Amino acid sequence: MWPSGRTAGAVLSFDFDAEEVWLADDPDNARRPGVLSQGRYGAKVGVPLILELSRESELRATFFVPGAVAARYPDRVREILAGGHEVALHGYTHRSPAALPPDEEEDELHRSLEALRALDADPVGYRSPSWDFSERTLGLLDREGILYSSNMMDDLRPYRHEGSRLIELPVHWMLDDAAHFWIDGRESWTKKISTPGGVLEIWQDEFEGIRRLGSVTVLTMHPQFIGRPSRLAMLRELVDVMQSHPDLWIATAREVAERADVALERS
Ligand code: ZN
Repeated sequence: MWPSGRTAGAVLSFDFDAEEVWLADDPDNARRPGVLSQGRYGAKVGVPLILELSRESELRATFFVPGAVAARYPDRVREILAGGHEVALHGYTHRSPAALPPDEEEDELHRSLEALRALDADPVGYRSPSWDFSERTLGLLDREGILYSSNMMDDLRPYRHEGSRLIELPVHWMLDDAAHFWIDGRESWTKKISTPGGVLEIWQDEFEGIRRLGSVTVLTMHPQFIGRPSRLAMLRELVDVMQSHPDLWIATAREVAERADVALERS
């Protein structure tokens, strides 16, 4: 399924959540600027630094953006698009589809499509807030003609969902920066913040393993977590390692899903 000369793939994906994670967690957080500032960092500082890194490393990434974030930070989304990156769906608010009544889940999907299209994005991929599906999600995505999902942990290779056109680009907690870096208050203070070096070791070993299997490494990152200077330096190191493999194709999730779609059709 890879372009000629390539034997494996990698996708750098960023879930541009901004304040929405904290607003979904507790609507009362709307009155707590200190709490929300954890997410605002992503919009103010994280995304611009990620765009700079991408420019310098000449790579294109995929940004999953909640509709409400696109509405609040339209210029950031335009900058992402202007950098040649993909913008894809991540809910309207950051509420899990599994926690929504059916009409609200459908409404969220439609509003998020509208919000991204209003900024001239052409979203064809979906990552649910929290990687969570309801029993209706798959059918809704199919009906909207969505090409791919990036939410499931049951494989290392892209596959097609049963009874659906939808391509899955599998993810995993170990390749998610939130699992290693997310500390946001008293409940998580028993946890230690991981060192960038420790996370680099985990990511690099897993990347090498997936690459040897000829599959695709999907990194899930969040501007509010990965967007700190020491962590971005770590990401740059990982990108350098990836780019030292001439047989690796670093692409957007859409590009990988399009090739998987054709390859799975043939097989
Ligand atoms: Zn998210």
